[in-house]
Amino acid sequence: MRDMTPRTMYGSVDLAPLLRTLQGDTGMRVPSWEKPAAIAALTDMGLGVEQIAALVHMSGTDTTEAVRKYKQARHTHQVVERAVIGHAIWIARSQAKLRERTKAANAKARAKRLAERVLVDGHWFHPRAPHGTNTGYNGFGCRCRGPEGCHEAHMQAQRDRRAAS
Ligand SMILES: [Zn+2]
Repeated sequence: MRDMTPRTMYGSVDLAPLLRTLQGDTGMRVPSWEKPAAIAALTDMGLGVEQIAALVHMSGTDTTEAVRKYKQARHTHQVVERAVIGHAIWIARSQAKLRERTKAANAKARAKRLAERVLVDGHWFHPRAPHGTNTGYNGFGCRCRGPEGCHEAHMQAQRDRRAAS
C-alpha cells in the first residue's frame, strides 16, 4: 500500500483526494499551499505534466516549470545526500584505520618495553617503569616485589576493584 501522505522536500501532501480525482471524482481541489508538495509527490509517482496539471488545477506552462524546478532540486538534493553519505563513510573508515594504527603502535611499544625487562630474584623488573603503580605492572610488565613494588600496586588495584563492584 502506497503511503498516502508522502513527505516531500516541500512538506507533506495528502494524495488520497488527488487519486480519487484520477478515478473520476471531480470537485476535489488541492489547497494552494499543498501544490508544491503535490507536484513533487506526483512527479515521484511518475505522472506526466498533463495529468499533474489537471490534478493541481494549474496551467500546462506553470506545471511544466514547477516540475522542471522540482526535478532539478531533487537532483541536487540527491547529489548532496550522496556526497554527505560518502563523506561520512570516508570519515568512519579513516577513524577505523587510525584506531587500528594506534592499537598496532601501542602493542609494538608495549612489546618493546616488555623486552627491556630483566629478571631480579626470579621476578621481571623494568628499569624505567613507574614503580609502585598499576601502570608499571600492566604497561611495563614490572613485577617488582615489596610494599612499594608494582606487584603490590596491582594486587591493591584488584582489591579496590572488587570492593567497588
Ligand atoms: Zn616495578
